[in-house]
Amino acid sequence: SSSGNGSPSFRRKPVIIIVVGMAGSGKTTLMHRLVCHTHLNNIRGYVINLDPAVMTLPYGVNIDVRDTVKYKEVMKQFNLGPNGGILTSLNLFATRFDEVISVIERRADQLDYVLVDTPGQIEIFTWSASGAIITEAFASTFPTVVAYVVDTPRSADPSTFMSNMLYACSILYKTRLPLILTFNKVDVVAHQFALEWMEDFEAFQAAASSDHSYTSTLTQSLSLVLDEFYNNLKSVGVSAVSGVGMEAFFKAVEASADEYMETY
Ligand code: GDP
Ligand code: MG
Repeated sequence: SSSGNGSPSFRRKPVIIIVVGMAGSGKTTLMHRLVCHTHLNNIRGYVINLDPAVMTLPYGVNIDVRDTVKYKEVMKQFNLGPNGGILTSLNLFATRFDEVISVIERRADQLDYVLVDTPGQIEIFTWSASGAIITEAFASTFPTVVAYVVDTPRSADPSTFMSNMLYACSILYKTRLPLILTFNKVDVVAHQFALEWMEDFEAFQAAASSDHSYTSTLTQSLSLVLDEFYNNLKSVGVSAVSGVGMEAFFKAVEASADEYMETY
């Protein structure tokens, strides 16, 4: 109700879905699954790859950072290592991101969602100027949501779970966009434990206190902080491999987009 949506040019569609998460959480596999789901259900999707270093993608893309910047050449030209090469490639791409926005704007009437895959190393997107520029460019033009992908089996340990949630929390604060905690790989481990920990911080504290390597007072304070954080977001369980949870995911996206329209 503050700024953007007062303008008549601000549309409800397409909704931008930025997929972020730790390396190996399953972003690319989930993107593939989401793309398949859109094709099978006549949902009109548009796909953007922002990972300059990915070798092959299992899904077709409409806009690919790799078509504009060759990360290996950027590495050579600026004498950089792999991470510097990826970061610089994304910076170069960000300088021309208004062109990407224009392309989407021209197709807006024919699109429901824009799915955005991000670099394997999460901080390259979430803690860089170019990541912020790209996110802001999306969010000032279209309703934009962040899908934070969690490796559920690897988060079953309380200290890993908390680290992951704190990271998600920092992304929420940095982007100020609706965030969907997307618990992936539920074909391996169900995300029920996570829902219980998020619902009841005492249950989480009890689980954490059995882990003696953990500083219990810090855990207790942080779980109170996170309790407030959980109130501000949606969570879904999905499996990029089995395809479970796709409808719940898109439902959460729609609810987040509504929230976006009310807030921004
Ligand atoms: P990214 O680095 O976040 O893009 O992760 P990838 O999509 O490359 O996936 C990392 C690994 O997790 C791969 O071996 C995937 O096959 C696996 N993976 C991804 N999603 C799932 C899932 O839902 N279930 C299972 N069992 N494995 C998954
Ligand atoms: Mg990937």
